[in-house]
Amino acid sequence: MKLIWVTFVLLFLGSGRQEQTVEVYRVEKDGVVELHARNKNIYPVTIELDAELNNMSSSKRLPLSDVINGRSEKLIAILSPVRENEKWEFKSSYKYYMGSIFAKHNDSYEYRLPFHVGDTHKVTQGYHGSFSHVGRINYSLDFDLDEGTEVFAARSGVVVEVVENFNSGGGSEDYMHKANYITILHNDGTLADYSHLKLNGAIVAVGQRVRVGTLIGYSGATGYATGPHLHFNVKKANNDGGFITLPVKFRTGEGVEMLQQGKSYKAI
Ligand SMILES: [Zn+2]
Repeated sequence: MKLIWVTFVLLFLGSGRQEQTVEVYRVEKDGVVELHARNKNIYPVTIELDAELNNMSSSKRLPLSDVINGRSEKLIAILSPVRENEKWEFKSSYKYYMGSIFAKHNDSYEYRLPFHVGDTHKVTQGYHGSFSHVGRINYSLDFDLDEGTEVFAARSGVVVEVVENFNSGGGSEDYMHKANYITILHNDGTLADYSHLKLNGAIVAVGQRVRVGTLIGYSGATGYATGPHLHFNVKKANNDGGFITLPVKFRTGEGVEMLQQGKSYKAI
C-alpha cells in the first residue's frame, strides 16, 4: 500500500494579509502527482515552490520559480514515484508575491508627468532621496501637489490595486502602511504606484484599463508623509520575495529626462 503525506506550508509576505490569494493544489492521476497553482489576484504573481521528496522525482528542478498570470491556473510541476511498490511522499512549501519576476522594463518608454498638462510642479524628493527613498523604494519621486490636486496616469495599464480608506498621515513610521494608493500594471509586467492620495481619492477601480493621461485620483497626505504630495514609483517583482523600483524617464517641457530633486517640471 502506498502512503502519501502532503503538507503545504504557506509563507505570507507583507503585513496584515489575511486571505490566501494563491493556492497550490495537487491532482493525482496516472500514478503521478501534478502540482497546480491557482492565482485569484487580478495581477500576475511569482510563486517560489520547494519540496522535500522521498522516492519521488520532480519534472522541474527544485526550488522552482514560476509566474502565474492574473486570475488563472497553471500546472507548475509533476512529481513521480521513482521505485514502484515503495512508499513515496513529499512535503512542499511555497511563497508568492505580486508581479512577474521575468518582467523587463521598457526603458525607452517616456512617462507622462502625473499632473495636469501645462502645470509645473517641483520634485521635492528624488531618486535616492534621504528622507524616505531608500532601500527597495530608492527609485521614487515625490511631486509637490496640494491636497486634492488631480493625478493622471503616467503610463497606460490596468488598475490592479486601490486603497483609499485612510484619512490621516504624518512623519512617524507608524503611518508607513496607512497611505492611500493606486497601483497600475503596465504591459511590460512592471507596476506603477501613485501614493498618499486623499481619503476616497481614487476615481478608478480594480480591473479598469486606463490610458496614459487618464484622471485617476486626487493627491493628499495619507500615510508616511509630512505634507501633501504625490509619491510615484515604477517597480517589478524581485526574487528576494518583494520588489525593486526602477529609474524611468519623463517627457517634460524641457525634453525627455530623468527628474532631479529640487527642480520643477512642466507636464506636456
Ligand atoms: Zn516618496
